[in-house]
Amino acid sequence: MNAPAIDFDPDLVRRLDRQGPRYTSYPTADRFVEAFDAATYRAWTARRNPGGLDRGLALYVHLPFCSDVCFYCACNKIITRDRARGARYLDYLGREIALQGALFGEDRRVGEMHWGGGTPTWHGVHELAALWRRVGEHFELEAGGEYSIEVDPRTVTPESVAALRAIGFNRVSFGVQDFDPEVQAAVHRVQSEEATLATIEAARAAGFVSVNVDLIYGLPRQTLMSFNRTLARVTAARPDRVALYNYAHLPAQFKPQRRIAQADLPHAETKLKLLALAVERLGAAGYAYIGMDHFALPHDALAVAQRHRRLRRNFQGYTACADRDLVGLGVSAIGGIGPTYSQNFRTLEKYYGRLDGSELPVMRGVELGADDLVRRAVIQELMCHFTLCLESISLAYLIDFERYFAAELKELRELETLGLVSLEPGWLSVTPRGRFLVRRVCMVFDRYLARGADGGRFSRVI
Ligand code: SF4
Repeated sequence: MNAPAIDFDPDLVRRLDRQGPRYTSYPTADRFVEAFDAATYRAWTARRNPGGLDRGLALYVHLPFCSDVCFYCACNKIITRDRARGARYLDYLGREIALQGALFGEDRRVGEMHWGGGTPTWHGVHELAALWRRVGEHFELEAGGEYSIEVDPRTVTPESVAALRAIGFNRVSFGVQDFDPEVQAAVHRVQSEEATLATIEAARAAGFVSVNVDLIYGLPRQTLMSFNRTLARVTAARPDRVALYNYAHLPAQFKPQRRIAQADLPHAETKLKLLALAVERLGAAGYAYIGMDHFALPHDALAVAQRHRRLRRNFQGYTACADRDLVGLGVSAIGGIGPTYSQNFRTLEKYYGRLDGSELPVMRGVELGADDLVRRAVIQELMCHFTLCLESISLAYLIDFERYFAAELKELRELETLGLVSLEPGWLSVTPRGRFLVRRVCMVFDRYLARGADGGRFSRVI
């Protein structure tokens, strides 16, 4: 099976782009409720953990600290250079790891782990190695697992990148965004191109299985010429994956963005051209379009999983790993156990407070009902593979798809006339022209949006 074809159609994007969720979960996190607490979480882990059940685990570890703020940032981070704050956090995180580890039997082995932030490499390699050991004391890490870490190139050297590999990480993601000095100054994230390329090279030499580079289009002072140069440099470095994000300017929600001058932002038409340019250059360099924001070389696990219809979407974007219960560790971390999602407290004060009482720091969550589960399956399938066999959903969820989703199919027929999807007996497919707007198609199946929720807090393609 080949990678899904794309046909970037600026006119279609211009006409149909709307603010909407990225669907790293369904329902989205704004639907979580505080009635879901630590006791509910414990009950669900117990239900998912009967002896002899061979079901692996995935871990997400959140390390929130950064030394400086990037003005485009929309992440849950803490800006500080105070190393003592970092050490205190690791102490509390270690306590949470012990509490969580005790909830799962030894047969619940970890085959996937991701450390994100903030900036995980704000911490030194010795601290990170100690944290890895702490995880290993309370969870069984599989030898062949996928272990990834986000790296800010400004915080590492070729030697420390090699040390991360020696700790046990085998996948790495570098934040680049744009190499242009003017853009870097405008977003308050200055990192030399030479040093960044040297760290990518060091990751290869150290034996990382997969190297990802993050880029952003729509940043202040970005031009077609400058971004073209960044794309040329990045594709020449041959990362296995490229994540290409839209900069969504939402200063009312994200305080650092207030320091970006509106006048410096590229126009919507220029943004569209920046995206078109990136799609063209990445395609010409041999990268397959995986789905929302993600591109990968054909040998990469994401591209292989997509060809074999094994690709899945989770909080980190796309994954080639099996469907596993996800344990979120750290302040604000999100996890998913069985048909639930849950999130830890988002402030250090509350996170520490719960752990001081030897309680899990669960702030909120959601238990998915039967309707959520079927809609989640539909959205997953569309986000990962762009096609949906209606009968497979009918059989798996004991529904008559055409009757259950009669209203949605009516709406999809309208999208079909606009060229976004095609409906054939038993199948729904997102057209090659519609693939950049796949979330627009998924939004049709989102019951919460359909009930009039405000889409304004979400980002757009442009
Ligand atoms: S973009 Fe990343 S490195 Fe920059 S402030 Fe946000 S979390 Fe920190």
